[in-house]
Amino acid sequence: MAAKVYFADMRSNEKQSLLDKVGKLYRRTGIGSIVAKNDLVAVKLHFGERGNTTYIRPQFIRRLVDLIRNSGGKPFLTDANTLYVGGRSNAVDHLETAVLHGFDYAVAGAPVIIADGLTGKDYVEVPVDLKHFKTVKIGSAAYHADALLVVSHFKGHIATAFGGVLKNVGMGLGSRSGKQMMHSDLLPEISPEKCRSCGRCMRWCPAGAISFTREQPDNPGPARIDASKCLGCGECTVTCTHGAIASNWKTEPDIMQEKIAEYSWGVLKDKKGKAAFITFLNNVTPDCDCCGWSEAPIVPDIGILASRDPIALDQACVDLVNGERGLSASRMAGHEDSPDKFRALFPNVDWSRQLAYGEELGLGIRQYQLVRVK
Ligand code: SF4
Ligand code: SF4
Repeated sequence: MAAKVYFADMRSNEKQSLLDKVGKLYRRTGIGSIVAKNDLVAVKLHFGERGNTTYIRPQFIRRLVDLIRNSGGKPFLTDANTLYVGGRSNAVDHLETAVLHGFDYAVAGAPVIIADGLTGKDYVEVPVDLKHFKTVKIGSAAYHADALLVVSHFKGHIATAFGGVLKNVGMGLGSRSGKQMMHSDLLPEISPEKCRSCGRCMRWCPAGAISFTREQPDNPGPARIDASKCLGCGECTVTCTHGAIASNWKTEPDIMQEKIAEYSWGVLKDKKGKAAFITFLNNVTPDCDCCGWSEAPIVPDIGILASRDPIALDQACVDLVNGERGLSASRMAGHEDSPDKFRALFPNVDWSRQLAYGEELGLGIRQYQLVRVK
């Protein structure tokens, strides 16, 4: 058995623009069938970090928004806040970044709703009972949406070698504390020098693991974490606005990829028959769109792909990239003929783990049939 992955190349002419091809992919993949009348349809995308210039152009999103509306749905654009401090770590900065990059109503034709709310605390804890997580924390706007169209930009990623659908869904829709749990196996620590004894972290800790040292009766002193009580949930890390609880980024690439697959499973488990995926395989940069820059693409632009199967879609994308000759005027210099471009860029990361584990979980299958759409 093979999952169908529809593929349109980047050629266009006076009779057919790339926007028209997006429309064809929408129809051939049957994306309209995931939308019932008046469904709230979350269009998950990445608005690009400030300084990045290779995120998906808003004109493509506008075409998809119009198609969803024609199918009877009510589309909105969404992403969850980032763990790292940048231009998208709270809803105010995130919305401003979205507008700066052209994702306002006038251009995109749909409102932007940040999935996990103002500070990342608006999430639903979804039971999954898997190897790494019993529950996953999914941005509530995505969880409560009736249908989900995931629009991904395929490119390299330092932690997972490439970022495609699974990265966009699992890491992308995890709340900020969920992202911390995917990024690290370590428990947080409080820096006594930076702590201002404000007590915010203590109020948010679900385990009662934080207390003050009370060095003197009239001075609460810096906060401290009782490691024997700490659940590693990451709430304190994302709550401290004084930088006293640093984000941890330590986990093994295999583990992180499995965690991302488990989060994807949590997002998609209640969206059976209500989710579809489109991936842009152009501007394949070695770094992800969370970077405030865009390095030269590693291969020529390849095309736009769509599927109802997220695993098959990511597998098809990585195969198509590996089938191209690497561009010399890029970070692929010296590895142009490598049969595995992402392994050449990130030798310590085995990208296949995310797909193998995702397949094990039943998210989809790696076997696919590429159907050309002209
Ligand atoms: S939120 Fe930060 S500054 Fe406030 S008590 Fe906790 S660690 Fe200290
Ligand atoms: S990680 Fe979670 S359980 Fe541990 S101290 Fe922070 S808020 Fe409390």
